[in-house]
This record gives sequence, C-alpha cells and structure tokens, in this order.
Amino acid sequence: MSTEIGFFQMRMTVSTDQGQALQAVDVSPMARLDNGRRVRSADTLGAKIPRIPPQKDPMTQTTSRRLERLVRGQATSDGAGVKLTRVVANDLQQRLDPFLMLDAFGSDKAGDYIAGFPDHPHRGFETVTYMLHGRMRHRDSAGNEGLLKNGDVQWMTAGRGVIHSEMPEQEEGLMSGFQLWLNLPAKDKMCPPWYRDIPSAQVPQFTTEQGVTVRVIAGHSHGTDGSVQRDATQVLYLDLHFPEGENVTFEQALPSTHNAMAYVYQGSVDVVCGEDTAAVPTHHLAILRNEGDHVRLSAGQGTRALLLAGQPLREPIVQYGPFVMNTKEQIIAAMDDYRAGRLA
Ligand code: MN
Repeated sequence: MSTEIGFFQMRMTVSTDQGQALQAVDVSPMARLDNGRRVRSADTLGAKIPRIPPQKDPMTQTTSRRLERLVRGQATSDGAGVKLTRVVANDLQQRLDPFLMLDAFGSDKAGDYIAGFPDHPHRGFETVTYMLHGRMRHRDSAGNEGLLKNGDVQWMTAGRGVIHSEMPEQEEGLMSGFQLWLNLPAKDKMCPPWYRDIPSAQVPQFTTEQGVTVRVIAGHSHGTDGSVQRDATQVLYLDLHFPEGENVTFEQALPSTHNAMAYVYQGSVDVVCGEDTAAVPTHHLAILRNEGDHVRLSAGQGTRALLLAGQPLREPIVQYGPFVMNTKEQIIAAMDDYRAGRLA
C-alpha cells in the first residue's frame, strides 16, 4: 500500500492534561507505517530565572509576564528532506496549547529546501505559513493555489482534510520563514477546509511611538485587528521589528490564562518585569509564565521576534504525523479515509 505521508513524524502521541505527560502509543495497524524516523524533542536550556514575586507597576497596578523557560529548537528534516528547526515539538503541545508545532526554516543552500513538501494530507488543525524570504508554491485538493513570497502569509484550515503540496519556486538564494500548527477545537476538527493567502502588503501593521513595527498576522494589538481572528483559540500572532540602535520597549496585553511564547529570529530580546529582565538569545523560544495581564519586551539593534499567544482548548490531543485529533479512533478513521481516497 502506498502512503505519501511517511516523511512525517509517524509516532502517535497523546498529550494529556495530567502535567506535561506525553506517551507514545503503538497502534498496530499503523505501526508498519512507522518509518523509524523520529524527531528529537526540543532541547530545554536551564534558564536561570530569579524566583521573585511579580512586581506591581505603581502607575497601573498591573504585572507583566516573566520568562518561564527558554527552549532551543532542534535541527531536523521534514517533507522530502527539507532542513528545518523544530522550535515547538510535540512535548510542548500541552504546555503551549493551542499551539501544536512551530518550525523555522532558513537556508541559502538550495539542497536544504529544494525537494520541498510534495503531496501530503492534513486533518484536524490549521497551518499558518509565514515566508520571510524566497518563494513557495502551494496547491491543494480543494483547488486552491498560491505563491508565497517575502512577507506573505498563508492560512490554511485543514478541517476534515486537505491534500496539498508546498514546493519551493526558486533554485538558489535564501529561503526562510515559519510554519505554525494551530489546533482546532473538537467541534471544528471536521469543518470544511478553508484557505487564505495574505500578501505582505495586506498584513495589517503599525509602528509604536518607540519605533517598533508590529505586523499583526492574527488577533489584535494596540487597536489594530490582524488578518485572521479565531474565536476558540483567540490566537495572537505578531511579528515584531525593533528599531536599530538603543533598546526600546513593546508592551502587549495578554490574559494570564492564554499560553504565550516569543521566538527571537534576529538579535535578542529582554523579557521585562519591573526591574527584572531575562534575556532571550537569537533562535531561542521564550515560554512566558501564565501571570499578569501583559508582556513587556525590550530590544533594539534591529531585533526581530514573533510573539504568539492563544487560549488553551484543554481537550485531548492525539497526533499521528499530519493528523491531529482528540482520540485514537479518530486517527484510525483519518488513516482509513486517506487510504480510501475520502480524506479530501
Ligand atoms: Mn503541509
């Protein structure tokens, strides 16, 4: 039997809300599809964060979030051999609910990306691709086609199923960007697929008085509505461009119940709470504590970072490669539908 999904991480994982538990489940009908390639879990750096109580800002009586820990992504390959960094892997799915995965890709060596991601299925969640450099062509079973290039965003809701390809349209030069996997609530996992290309010029953005340019891919920031809004996950996706020169501060309102993270892809950022600061170096993810009502980030020197937050779904997460559902039975149904040509 031919399956074209062998390049995914084909181990079923179940994330429960008992702590950060993650168990591997061997589902015998699928075990034979396991290609033996597994993605190593994200490396956790021992961040030395002083344990001090949240500090009140005397002017507003509010507190800002502190750094919980730093995570450095792991080099891996996916698709037909695309080299990338898996920043959020499935051991963080529970902690960062509703986020399932964050990949950063970036290389000027064609061999690292040229084979792309040939036809493969998805079910049960959304993928958000943000291209910084290069060109990627998308084609899917719903008849959508789009070319992603510098600064463009593609938002795809797989819902009950799509089969698509994501292929580079360049043979040399720098290709870089991100792919985020955002979960869908149980009630929407079998919704019809949805797709939108957002050209860079249409991504809402503003510049703060301090000179921070904020691209609002999803959610709301300082009165600017992002390109996409989601009721269940309340997703916030910002790309922050700090000015050259001295450090300035950017503040974002965030409910304490929302899980939040910042990924620094150029320069370095300080997470600021009162007098306390914690540095987040380049290519590190900062998981932010669930506390306070905002986050304060300080940076300069042209630093760039993603700020992501969302309302946790608090539902069981069962993943098998490109399918993310709530139960093993739903995963088996997805496999059956894919094999029988009913997925998309
Ligand atoms: Mn895909």
